[in-house]
Amino acid sequence: MNRTVHIHPDEIRRLEAMLEESGTVTVSAHTHPDGDALGSAAALVSYLRDSRGADAVAVLPDSPSATVLPVIPEGTPFLFYDREPEACLRHIGKSSLVVLLDANGFGRTEALATALRGAAAPKILVDHHLDPVREEFDLVFSTPSISSASELLYYVLLALPDIGGDPCRLPAAAARALMAGMTTDTNNFANSVFPSTLEMASGLLGAGVDRDALLADLYHNYRENRVRLMGYLQYENLRITPEGLAYMIATRDILRRFDAEEGETEGLVNVPLSVGRVKMSILLKEDDGHFRVSIRSKKGTSAQQCAIRWFNGGGHENAAGGKLFWPKDIPSPEDAAAYLENVSVQCLS
Ligand code: 5GP
Ligand code: MN
Repeated sequence: MNRTVHIHPDEIRRLEAMLEESGTVTVSAHTHPDGDALGSAAALVSYLRDSRGADAVAVLPDSPSATVLPVIPEGTPFLFYDREPEACLRHIGKSSLVVLLDANGFGRTEALATALRGAAAPKILVDHHLDPVREEFDLVFSTPSISSASELLYYVLLALPDIGGDPCRLPAAAARALMAGMTTDTNNFANSVFPSTLEMASGLLGAGVDRDALLADLYHNYRENRVRLMGYLQYENLRITPEGLAYMIATRDILRRFDAEEGETEGLVNVPLSVGRVKMSILLKEDDGHFRVSIRSKKGTSAQQCAIRWFNGGGHENAAGGKLFWPKDIPSPEDAAAYLENVSVQCLS
């Protein structure tokens, strides 16, 4: 196995030429941003501003939950379309470069997709999902066998002439954001860890990232409600089918009872995989007219195929997601459990 991620020198030359031409940059990422989306976007914005003097801003379709906010270093400019739509469109309109991170195409930016696709500026993709929508971009960095978009961005930045392979030359805020994005996407080194991932961690630690402080910000900062909600769902709600599907359904009622905020079930879907006979775990969260779906699977079972076939979604082989709509997919929210039991028989037996 290759120890490092290989990025073609021609692509770096093209990237360098595009960066030299661009004074104003829009950096975007997928809707419902997770730590990797935020971390990679913050890192690129910080590099473009601090190292290259560009007017770079992260322009995202919706605002992040409080649980992933610590990923963004203080002072990094972010605009969210759900809060400041005009400012977002204005920045996209005046940009001379658009970079999409942690999404395989503009469709994953939902409310911003039309504006980003229609932007006159050249477009770059840096992503680790399967099946990049290449025709939407002028330059594509796509590596699925990597922990995170943050890791791929780390190697792209290292390959640029001004960084010259030395992580110490990254702005400190960028280094921290890259570590944060990779740490959250690997579930703190529990999955999708490659030799290149540990090499990146080593490089960033050497560059002075305070990992202890970062972990405290990321994982020791939750509200009590979150722990109680997660306990309740595991004790009262979790079902495990004979085929080995574990599922939990967080209805509006339950979420309200625990005063749950956006993002407070993050990580819960992984827990049932600790049961030996569980092959796949699904968490449904009720939203307007649909459930948001999180899927995790063990090796040999494809969360991704399940997301595509049954939940209008996609993702990675063992970590995927999507949506379950009513009345399109199920007559009403009460029919979700029956739907999941059927998915279990179809996918796992
Ligand atoms: P999570 O369960 O953390 O929300 O999502 C896990 C992964 O599934 C994400 O990193 C993303 O790749 C993928 N994913 C989540 N929701 C969707 C969706 O609605 N559509 C697609 N195509 N992928 C999704
Ligand atoms: Mn990611």
